[in-house]
Amino acid sequence: MSALYYKSLTEIIKALQAKTVSVTEVTRACLDRMTHVEPTLGAMLAIASDTALKEAEAMDAAGPDPAKPLWGVPVTIKDVILTQGLRTTCASKMLEHFVPPYDAFVTQKLREAGCVILGKTNMDEFAMGSTTENSGFHPTRNPWNPSRVPGGSSGGAAVAVVAGESYASLGTDTGGSIRQPAALCGCVGLKPTYGRVSRYGVIAYGSSLDQVGPLARSVEDCARVLQVIAGSDPHDVTSAPIDVPDYVTGLAEASLKGVRLGIPKEFFDKGLDPQVAAVCEETLKACEAAGATLVQVSLPHTSAAIATYYIIAMAEASSNLARYDGVRFGFREKDVSDLQEMYVQSRTTGLGQEVKRRIMLGAFVLSSGYYDAYYRKAAQVRRIIRDEYVTVLDTVDAIFCPVSPVTAWPLGSHADDPLAMYLMDAYTLSLNLAGLPGLSLPVGSIDGLPVGMQLIGKAFSEAELLKVGHALEALVTPLGEPPL
Ligand code: GLN
Repeated sequence: MSALYYKSLTEIIKALQAKTVSVTEVTRACLDRMTHVEPTLGAMLAIASDTALKEAEAMDAAGPDPAKPLWGVPVTIKDVILTQGLRTTCASKMLEHFVPPYDAFVTQKLREAGCVILGKTNMDEFAMGSTTENSGFHPTRNPWNPSRVPGGSSGGAAVAVVAGESYASLGTDTGGSIRQPAALCGCVGLKPTYGRVSRYGVIAYGSSLDQVGPLARSVEDCARVLQVIAGSDPHDVTSAPIDVPDYVTGLAEASLKGVRLGIPKEFFDKGLDPQVAAVCEETLKACEAAGATLVQVSLPHTSAAIATYYIIAMAEASSNLARYDGVRFGFREKDVSDLQEMYVQSRTTGLGQEVKRRIMLGAFVLSSGYYDAYYRKAAQVRRIIRDEYVTVLDTVDAIFCPVSPVTAWPLGSHADDPLAMYLMDAYTLSLNLAGLPGLSLPVGSIDGLPVGMQLIGKAFSEAELLKVGHALEALVTPLGEPPL
């Protein structure tokens, strides 16, 4: 029988409502687990032990509240999401001492649903990266092998779930940051449709790409968290005024019978590690045996996705990060002789190397003389990529493909080669350019390191994706618990 901190969120909800376990017990179990694993893994940037335990005790005194769907469940939140009164740094020295005066929409939703917020998870600075090594504070390590990266940028969020530090985490996904760390660490991660979840109170990286979503130990656990955080919000004009369906009921009846899965040939090309390809092919065979129909499809502009994404993401980042000027937010260099020097020195000291690289490249592609050649072109290609997805998704129920071309790699492997790192995102970025939902699931492992695959669906088809994902999950041998 697994330890309390390794129960699924779904199991823990039932146990809490039935009072077979108290909120204080589960909160303490997770906090003790943090004490045990954090020195090795470094998934957390802030741990709110005192407030979490106080809240837990108050909840136990009041008794279970069936009206609160996540009553008493300890969760962790990526440090890009504002938490009132709890330090939110975006893993940047620039925001090292920033304590938000208000909650993000999603934080507020978790609180209203009865969650206990345990703390904030590590990430690449301003969500820029694929390994969590770009954190301005410390890297996070993979629970299956601490010499390997956990993926990124929501690396801490994935590790917290997989290592038993919390029952679910919120992450953000601009170009793969929920799905890729979920795949490399072996948990489930859902990037919702752009507009499904409010971005109010989420520190912006690429505003037309960013989306908040859950990471958890099962598809059902993710469905329960999405249920709480989805919905429109007057504070975010890009949040969609579309009703939130019931994501949880009906999951149990899910089946792969008659489901048409599109297999894009561009995702199974020479860039894919042969061992990862073999695990994916095994999974596809299992789907077929369970009654799914596999349909070869083509997304010809996949090869243009990396260039297109990095132009658009950097352009938006250069604009979004202009606010960190030493005046309005965050770090200010004091030892300066004039205003100009204060701007320059505050940004030079406060921001990390990768963030500065992206601001400079982003400003370049937006500059007059280069705008047409880079930014406008990228915006046009983005439209083509989106249209290709829409056409293919008219012929199948979901697209099914790998998340990362390789399993988790050693820390430091791409330290001097940012371009090699960008290439690792080949299978995740195009989905953000198209604004579509993607569900990443563990499907196997190679030498003890997890492999994930993603289901991609039509806009606002999360309910259908979760059903297919739930049925698929039943076909896969569980990874078990990491050796910690
Ligand atoms: N790795 C991608 C990047 O560095 C995606 C990051 C993300 O989704 N936040 O931009």
